[in-house]
Amino acid sequence: MKETMQKETKGKIKGLIFNIQRYSVHDGPGIRTLVFMKGCPLRCLWCSNPEGQNPWPEVAYYERLCTYCYRCVEICPNDAIKIREDGSLETLRDKCTNCGSCVKVCPSCARRIFGRYITVNEVLDIVKKDAIFYRRSEGGITVGGGEPLAQGEFVKELLRRAKEVYGIHTVIETCAYTRPNVVMSVLKYVDFIFCDLKYIDPVKHRQLTGVSNEQILNNIRLIVGKLLPEEKELVIRVPIIPKLNDDLENLLGIAEFIKSLDKNIKVELLPYHELGKQKYKALDRKYPLEDLEIKPPSKEYIEKVKRVLVEKGIRVVKT
Ligand code: SF4
Ligand code: SF4
Repeated sequence: MKETMQKETKGKIKGLIFNIQRYSVHDGPGIRTLVFMKGCPLRCLWCSNPEGQNPWPEVAYYERLCTYCYRCVEICPNDAIKIREDGSLETLRDKCTNCGSCVKVCPSCARRIFGRYITVNEVLDIVKKDAIFYRRSEGGITVGGGEPLAQGEFVKELLRRAKEVYGIHTVIETCAYTRPNVVMSVLKYVDFIFCDLKYIDPVKHRQLTGVSNEQILNNIRLIVGKLLPEEKELVIRVPIIPKLNDDLENLLGIAEFIKSLDKNIKVELLPYHELGKQKYKALDRKYPLEDLEIKPPSKEYIEKVKRVLVEKGIRVVKT
């Protein structure tokens, strides 16, 4: 049976995360600890973190690390690992319950589980270890995913405690696809907001991500109107995916939307990359862009895209 994210045990709320990365210099100012929440309502075709999409723990299998000792086959309680005729292994996903038993016995880390439930205190214990670096570099904690607002209650408590109890600078990275009351209640405890904007036309947005963007655009307007005056910062992140969202009509539409917000909003461009490809394979999922010949854009190309936005009066930054 598959478990859903964010659960409560003995009065303590637990969040489902798939990674915590310390000493990062990306995703916000200074040195930061990144917390990746698992579960996302979008399915962007270019997603480089497929292990962050489903709201339950998932076992992955990295064939290149496997020594074919078959300990996992013996331990699996559900006969979910099949030995093929050539000796290679197949995880039968319809039988696998993601129990993690095979991960514990694998001697070569060829099997691993993405996703674990964790309390706010447990996350903060890790985050606090680097407090000295945050102070010196003006860094802090960044909560991303997956989609952090999909576990609003947990993330709110995490950011509230980080900010109010420990004085740690807080950043969130969100697609803003959630209810406005969740946006307001969580972002109250955030100093710096990264918000994605992938396509301006709602129909095309649905084709590329699985959902319409109306709620996202409304939430961005809400953030700008109600939260930015409280001295928070907002950077809109636009992924640049050749052939999918880099058409002039979309770039000009995004520029127009940002200008309509009537604030000096900054934009960051995120060039497409293929770093997540191997993870799809490890999860026995097809890479959604496999049949399309899409290559990471060159620096020159990104400069060209940048010029289109700058000419429309948009401030394009690198964070
Ligand atoms: S996670 Fe559990 S059910 Fe799935 S393959 Fe491993 S041992 Fe079997
Ligand atoms: S336990 Fe690990 S190394 Fe051994 S067969 Fe299974 S995946 Fe491969």
